Amino acid sequence: MKKWLGLVFCLVFALGCQQEEGGQQVDGAEKTGGAMRFVTIGTGGVTGVYYPVGGAISKLVNAKRQELNLRTTVESTGGSVFNVNALMNGDLELGVVQSDLQYQAYQGKGEWDGQPQEKLRAMFALHPEAVTIIAAVDANINGVEDLKEKIVNIGAPGTGQRVNAMDLFRVAGIDADSELTAEGIKPAEAAGMLQDGRIDAYFYTVGHPNGSVKEAAAGTRQIKFVPVADQYVEKLTAEQPYYAPADIPIEPYPGVSNEEPVPTFGVKATICTSSEVPEEVIYNITKTTFENLDQLQTLHPALEVLTKENMLQGLSAPFHPGAEKYFKEIGLIQE
Ligand code: GLU
Repeated sequence: MKKWLGLVFCLVFALGCQQEEGGQQVDGAEKTGGAMRFVTIGTGGVTGVYYPVGGAISKLVNAKRQELNLRTTVESTGGSVFNVNALMNGDLELGVVQSDLQYQAYQGKGEWDGQPQEKLRAMFALHPEAVTIIAAVDANINGVEDLKEKIVNIGAPGTGQRVNAMDLFRVAGIDADSELTAEGIKPAEAAGMLQDGRIDAYFYTVGHPNGSVKEAAAGTRQIKFVPVADQYVEKLTAEQPYYAPADIPIEPYPGVSNEEPVPTFGVKATICTSSEVPEEVIYNITKTTFENLDQLQTLHPALEVLTKENMLQGLSAPFHPGAEKYFKEIGLIQE
């Protein structure tokens, strides 16, 4: 009996593998040749926007997997900093990365001080992300200065928000080591921790709407967004090319106590890869994403603002040749 089961398993396995082989005609489309190529997209916490957006891109690509000989999977990860490092050591082929961190990694600044990540390549930009400070109303936090003496999740190492929080503290003259209790909780756990009363506020550099704020807003402890004063936004945007003023919308979050959009600063989410990923793979993923942009936009509301043109803004690492080839083909960049 066991032998039979083994044989059946081998047959099923062999058939499965055969389907994944390249170089054959499938539904009239010529495959690009070679074995099925597997590509992993690194995203962020499951209640953020990177994860569902990575899933949306993956869905578009996988709908054409026989034709493209390409299959994508999405991985929940620690966030931007983690994704850059995983791209560089070959653990990921694609990763979502904040535009500020794309810049810093390629230039060898910040987290990568003196160590430019020369293999980092840009594909395209996605949705805007706002540096969002979510606080419990009972903690009486009305501005960045009120974070002093509080328990604040600045984000786990590997997340983008941790970098942005430290930048904000620097321009606000707040010493995060001595003037507050800084926690390094993973993004997917922060909303629950706020509701449990274990933190007073948390930073999240994220697109809107997102699952984390929805979760926090649905709890019994009322929440609010903390505004970032103009003077800090001005300092940050004057200092760094990648920061821009941003507003946090409140309509997606009934239950949040703010009555108007909340001012802060922000960046953009971008899709990055490594120079070591083959041109054909990046060409096919870029082309599939751009040709199906309408459909992509229906898959997450944060993507509604995308246009083919603004998807080329906010990038600072060189284009991957596969993306560049496609953008030249459709005239988005000049020959
Ligand atoms: N911007 C966050 C980071 O880089 C992730 C946001 C998200 O997952 O949507 O860590």
